[in-house]
Amino acid sequence: MRWTPGDRGNIEDLRGRSAGGIAGLGIGGFLILLVLSWATGTNLFSLLGTGPSSSGSVGTSGEPRTSPAEERLVDMVDAVAEDAQDMWEEMLGGRYERTRVVLFRDAIQSACGFAESATGPFYCPGDRKVYLDLGFFSDLSRRFAAPGEFAEAYVLTHEIGHHVQNLLGYTERVRGSRTGPNSASVALELQADCFAGTWGHRASQQGRFQAGGVELDPGDAEQAIKAAAAIGDDRLQRMATGRVMPERFTHGSSAQRVEWFRRGMEGGDPRACDPFGTTTR
Ligand SMILES: [Zn+2]
Repeated sequence: MRWTPGDRGNIEDLRGRSAGGIAGLGIGGFLILLVLSWATGTNLFSLLGTGPSSSGSVGTSGEPRTSPAEERLVDMVDAVAEDAQDMWEEMLGGRYERTRVVLFRDAIQSACGFAESATGPFYCPGDRKVYLDLGFFSDLSRRFAAPGEFAEAYVLTHEIGHHVQNLLGYTERVRGSRTGPNSASVALELQADCFAGTWGHRASQQGRFQAGGVELDPGDAEQAIKAAAAIGDDRLQRMATGRVMPERFTHGSSAQRVEWFRRGMEGGDPRACDPFGTTTR
């Protein structure tokens, strides 16, 4: 994948705060703060500079421990987020509202509650932001054997796809729906995969790098397809428990995820990303 570093305008960098403050507290202090926050109704983490709503750097340095390789990842995430959002702006016009990717380490307090990195990247409809711990990309590469920048870009553009769904009202429609391969919640995930593929279609066009955008190299498409297959519910369940329980699917099987990503990637038309017709509610 070829891209040019930009000004990081699509990034909200909380790497220096999210983990630092909490780690500094120790688990005992952390639990006490958690209970006190709950009891008082005040987010005490934010007073320590560990929450997203704080602007100061009380108690932490605010400077993330980082490496040149990690900084390159930040630039890549910014470049992909810029490119994908440009696409959505072109396609949706005034209906699209730009979002940002919040980078955190280990754990974060979002409008959707307290989240740990183990839950993976996520989109929070409450504050309309994408949350990402860059450490997930190491997992993707090692644990799930799906390395490569386009695999990472697929994960990111899938989350931006959830933002698009939120703006278009799809997210609201499936609230409280059941699980299973034909559920509306799986359809929502498959649509986000298809939206990610739509961006892949755009990035696979020649001359995009020259024009300042992100451009795929020949063979890159395989990286994302491998990633989509690696994080299918059946594959994850088998890894975790040794068996497959389709009635508990929340994101779709590997085959479903690959199918819908491909559909977006081949056609490049988000209007073809409608798994809802094939599912029950
Ligand atoms: Zn998702």
